Amino acid sequence: MFQKILIANRGEIALRVIRACREMGIGSVAVHSTADADAMHVRMADESVCIGPPPSPDSYLSVPAIISACEITGAEAIHPGYGFLSENANFVQIVEDHGLTFIGPTAEHIRIMGDKITAKDTVKALGVPCVPGSAGGVADVAEAKQVGAEIGYPVIIKATAGGGGRGMKLAKSEDELENAFRTARSEAKAAFGNDEVYIEKYLGKPRHIEIQVFGDGKGRAVHLGERDCSLQRRHQKVLEEAPGPAITPEMRAEIGRTSAEAVAKIGYSGAGTIEYLFENGEFYFIEMNTRLQVEHPVTEAVYGVDLVREQIRVAAGLPMEFQQDDLVPNGHSIEVRINAEKLPNFSPSPGRISQYHAPGGLGVRMDSALYDGYRIPPYYDSLIGKLIVHGRDRPEALARLRRALGEIIVDGVDTTIPLFRALLEEEDVLTGDYTIHWLEKWLAENLG
Ligand code: ADP
Repeated sequence: MFQKILIANRGEIALRVIRACREMGIGSVAVHSTADADAMHVRMADESVCIGPPPSPDSYLSVPAIISACEITGAEAIHPGYGFLSENANFVQIVEDHGLTFIGPTAEHIRIMGDKITAKDTVKALGVPCVPGSAGGVADVAEAKQVGAEIGYPVIIKATAGGGGRGMKLAKSEDELENAFRTARSEAKAAFGNDEVYIEKYLGKPRHIEIQVFGDGKGRAVHLGERDCSLQRRHQKVLEEAPGPAITPEMRAEIGRTSAEAVAKIGYSGAGTIEYLFENGEFYFIEMNTRLQVEHPVTEAVYGVDLVREQIRVAAGLPMEFQQDDLVPNGHSIEVRINAEKLPNFSPSPGRISQYHAPGGLGVRMDSALYDGYRIPPYYDSLIGKLIVHGRDRPEALARLRRALGEIIVDGVDTTIPLFRALLEEEDVLTGDYTIHWLEKWLAENLG
């Protein structure tokens, strides 16, 4: 087992990894920008290294700075968290070239899944159901029209290098196709430096259902059921839950098995998520994320496992601690993402936290790097906490969520907490009856 792990991240996810290290008796090294010198992850880690000025490209994304921090502190492995360098295949290669261990899949697996066309081709060949669409990239408007005629409208044009909900354009009919195609291309070029796009059938009322998978890198893999992440704003998840209200045990067993078998066949190592759209009882693959997800705690709650501990073990060459038969879901869990943002426009709201009180009690987990007097810097994403509840069933989880949202205090900045209090008054949220478009419509009607 490793003696010391460096966490190449900040905020709540850095704390999450430090906590796992501490429970496993492993030393932890935090890295931070000058803007984060007083951050909680720096205080909580055993050691810390300043790796540069506030802008992420000069610090949290600076590969030489992170490798140097490993060399200075003697850390043997790097946990990337999510975001930043977590899905950067070149970084993984450099880490390995320096004789260090990347806690995650291989550079090759990250590369395959990071290109959405290659990813789709790969999983399709492994028996995973996919959204009907173009066979690979679409070169020009003429080809786009051909694909549109074949699969039928509406269609969605997506960037092959896409991520974070960006670079997607809807065309409801052939009239809208040319404009949507050109816009998608130029947006993809600007956002990802790669203008390749592909086309998929646009599903009108799907749910977003993702399967947590875990591989040992030696051809064995398991699944840990699904998360329903349909409540989204701008294709970004806002609330996640497990199990999915629309998923039966039979569906779970089948899509879970298909997903686990696919990652087993490619010899995948560590945690991964296979994302699907789910409509009329059918699953359609959209992408695979080759890292720990923001919403992993709902799976941990329902399956009673520590996914970060497992990531570390597998990266150290140890066998997985669980087998498929051990993984039996228990109860219901819901996570809400608390962002420092001002409603109704969700504009960033950095600043000083004058008072912070975390909710607690049975079935409540608060993952946050906040503390009284902490100053949220303006340079990074606005996620400041995740409130996760667990109950014996969905009504109990909802009751705990309502109770915890009543206890939490975050003063000094604006947050998305009032949004969740309002959502818990909605019949559709209480019954779990929503698709990926539900929240946008609700926001337009209630906050617009
Ligand atoms: P990203 O990598 O940017 O997150 P995804 O491919 O995972 O992109 O898609 C993000 C979200 O966009 C999905 O959760 C869904 O809301 C929407 N979406 C993607 N593909 C389709 C599709 N074919 N039909 C309808 N909605 C889609």
